[in-house]
Amino acid sequence: MRILLVEDERKVASFVARALRENAYAVDSAGTGEDGLRLALENPYDAILLDVRLPGMSGIELCRKLRQAEIQSPILMLTARSLVEQRVEGLDAGADDYLTKPFALAELQARVRALVRRGFRRGEAKLRCGDLELDRHRRSVIRGSARVPLTSKEFALLELLLLRSPDSVTRSEIIEHVWDSHFDSDTNLVEVYINRLRQKIDQGHGPKLVHTLRGVGYRMGAAE
Ligand code: CA
Repeated sequence: MRILLVEDERKVASFVARALRENAYAVDSAGTGEDGLRLALENPYDAILLDVRLPGMSGIELCRKLRQAEIQSPILMLTARSLVEQRVEGLDAGADDYLTKPFALAELQARVRALVRRGFRRGEAKLRCGDLELDRHRRSVIRGSARVPLTSKEFALLELLLLRSPDSVTRSEIIEHVWDSHFDSDTNLVEVYINRLRQKIDQGHGPKLVHTLRGVGYRMGAAE
């Protein structure tokens, strides 16, 4: 899942970005509303986090512009104080939720999870394919009766494949949703990660769940 964070305070931005990355999200950061708008027009985000107080274009203005541009990504506004007017203004501008600074990381993570879920309009905490089960809240994966230990990138990749299953996901969609804008798309990292996922999920099990569609992408499914 890929997130855009628009926040001018560097300390807050790096703290939030690090926490989100630890939870397997790919994060792009912008320090101004103008940069945020440019990134949001260029990339598909699963959620957008906007600070209200930005130099130049405010978070509220940016939110309004994003909705005018028909960007549907769920938006969480970060407000400096618990000002009722600010919250109302944000929601009126098209934000889905708000969080008052200072906030606890656990709270932020819970809100982002809820936001991403809302974006996919799929509320289920558990995603399944055959005898494989991915728990989005516990961030755990089980195949049969055995726990499958995954790194955060492997988890994010599997989550995306399961959310789209039985449809396929293209290589470029994987890059867009699992990695951030620093990703070098010429590398074969996607293939490497798919192979690792296969080794962890399919090796010693049947039926195979991860399928390659030549020239198209990848798909999860219990049937061949
Ligand atoms: Ca600010």
